Amino acid sequence: MKIHGKVLIAGGGIGGLTLARAAARAGFTCQVFEREAEVRPVGAGILVQTAAMLALKRLALDARVAAAGTEVRVGFGKTDRGAVLQRSAMDFLAVEFGVPTIAIHRARLHAVLLDGARDAGAVVHGGKKLEHFEETPDGVRAHFADGSSAEGALLVGADGLRSVVRRAVMGETPLRYAGYTSYRGIAEGSLVPEHEVTEAWGKGARFGFARVGPSEVYWFAVVNALEGGRDEHPLDTVVRRFSGWAEPVPGLLAATKPERVLKTDIHDREPVSGSTRGPVTLLGDAAHPTTPNLGQGGCMAIEDAVALTECLAVADTLPAALADYEARRFEPTKRLVEASFRFGKMAQLENGAAIWVRNLLVRATPARIVEKQLRRSVIASGFAPPVRA
Ligand SMILES: Cc1cc2nc3c(=O)[nH]c(=O)nc-3n(C[C@H](O)[C@H](O)[C@H](O)COP(=O)(O)OP(=O)(O)OC[C@H]3O[C@@H](n4cnc5c(N)ncnc54)[C@H](O)[C@@H]3O)c2cc1C
Repeated sequence: MKIHGKVLIAGGGIGGLTLARAAARAGFTCQVFEREAEVRPVGAGILVQTAAMLALKRLALDARVAAAGTEVRVGFGKTDRGAVLQRSAMDFLAVEFGVPTIAIHRARLHAVLLDGARDAGAVVHGGKKLEHFEETPDGVRAHFADGSSAEGALLVGADGLRSVVRRAVMGETPLRYAGYTSYRGIAEGSLVPEHEVTEAWGKGARFGFARVGPSEVYWFAVVNALEGGRDEHPLDTVVRRFSGWAEPVPGLLAATKPERVLKTDIHDREPVSGSTRGPVTLLGDAAHPTTPNLGQGGCMAIEDAVALTECLAVADTLPAALADYEARRFEPTKRLVEASFRFGKMAQLENGAAIWVRNLLVRATPARIVEKQLRRSVIASGFAPPVRA
């Protein structure tokens, strides 16, 4: 390894903790600075898909994530009345690429990543809100809201959608409101079959769910809405909005504790290159925030972290490593951000005739086409094992 010095990571979310493990295992001294006093997850469940599982395999974390979640083997697209529009196998990916797709409670994913970072020797600090940074002769100095500072060779902004590091590196690039808001929760009970993920589509609204444990179901609801709407009783809102939907939707909502429901307006940013300046770079939502429609935001953060470490480990200089990192990650992340945005527009249609045509097309799409797209996206990530000639 030709690059030396401390790696400073702003943000102890999915991407920051993955990077901490990856970089520490590669021999870097690594420190994570998380603004919350305790490094804790926000959210309910998450899907960790094939490319991210392949990236985690390089960190010896795939089995730990798999053990803490539930394998997803098939995906269903349905109407709000419960009619099947599409059934796509996902287990063939496990056979072809050697890792399962996992649905997992976010708290458990976070715990695995946090333990993984600490096991590898990274130090994770809570209560350290990054305020600004400046370049120094040897690298970069980061300044925190509590008045402390830290110096390193590299600063990585893994500080999420409203990243402070991004603003300093890339300037103001506006958030794009997708036109819909999301609600997420955990229902208690084994109310739906294991190993399936389902998304049902209605008029300007969607509802998805998957088991994340023996007696826990992660669900999400997405509804067209104006930006910034306040909601004191989010579960009541979801119950009202989805009252006419086929089971298990009402059953899942009835089995959910109100305090466990989270409302989040959905934003992304149009992909632009240039996420590195001097000894500072970005990953995950800080670099390329995406709509959650393809379940890829956290997955891309994991993939970024592993790719960045691999670039640092082989390059002769830090600028060369960061240039390689951006070259490796820009196109695959851009493609997914754009595809996810388009998918959201289609899934949130409100016009009856347009919905009829969409459903017809989805029904008519052969499963092998969907499978081909899934396979392609794993290969495009760069994490698929090389195919033997
Ligand atoms: C409804 C919904 C469903 C989703 N489903 C999926 C899914 O199934 N699969 C998937 O892969 N992705 C999913 N995502 C996306 C995923 O949640 C994000 O893309 C992912 O969390 C991004 O990880 P990150 O590490 O970049 O940022 P985050 O997880 O947001 O972490 C950023 C961290 O930085 C900290 N921070 C912020 N500012 C500062 C600062 N100034 N100083 C220090 N620390 C700071 C924050 O407290 C936080 O801990 C979903 C998102 C939504 C909204």
